[in-house]
Amino acid sequence: MAGDIGLHTLMTKAIFLDRDGVLNFDRADFIHGPDELVMIPGAAAAVSRLCMSGWQVLVATNQSGIGRGLFALQDLQAINEKVEAAVGEYGGRIDRFYFCPHVPEDNCECRKPKPGMLFQAARDFGLDLSECFLIGDRLTDIETGLAAGVTTILVLSGVFTDFTNEVLEYPPEYVAPTLEVAVDRLLRGEIISRRNHQKAAHLPQSSY
Ligand SMILES: [Mg+2]
Ligand SMILES: [Zn+2]
Repeated sequence: MAGDIGLHTLMTKAIFLDRDGVLNFDRADFIHGPDELVMIPGAAAAVSRLCMSGWQVLVATNQSGIGRGLFALQDLQAINEKVEAAVGEYGGRIDRFYFCPHVPEDNCECRKPKPGMLFQAARDFGLDLSECFLIGDRLTDIETGLAAGVTTILVLSGVFTDFTNEVLEYPPEYVAPTLEVAVDRLLRGEIISRRNHQKAAHLPQSSY
């Protein structure tokens, strides 16, 4: 497409999405193939609204089922293609899927809560991480976002269905019931990036 290159050089901000529990319903025993993937209502349309508002949408997902031998890389690709197709129905896209195929014992740099996937994306897309967001359903997602310096949003469509901020050592900057609501708030300007909102209160005390 003409103009594509020029557009990319201007776009330095992205939304990182966890996959399971954010875009699609999570399962306790892993999602092994596209037949087991069920999108969360409103999620695909919300991604499309982000795209149309100029955001790059990147998925960052732990998929240790590969390292555990529960499913193959081709299965993961088929699942991700189903997610992309769902988003595509609303005119949106996933700009890239980042995934960690390792098991915890591999001690890799990409498995969340380590920020390796976000740092890789920052290099790939020239991102200013302080302008970026991460939306996830687990505290490991929030920890990942904090480690990478992005603004974090916890959604209650996965492992959490209720949330009490004060019990957490590293609370998210924002909490929303679903991706759909998080995107609504973000596009209305009610959710603001670290860069635009120097909010030091959530930084871990130990870093000073
Ligand atoms: Mg998740
Ligand atoms: Zn990894």
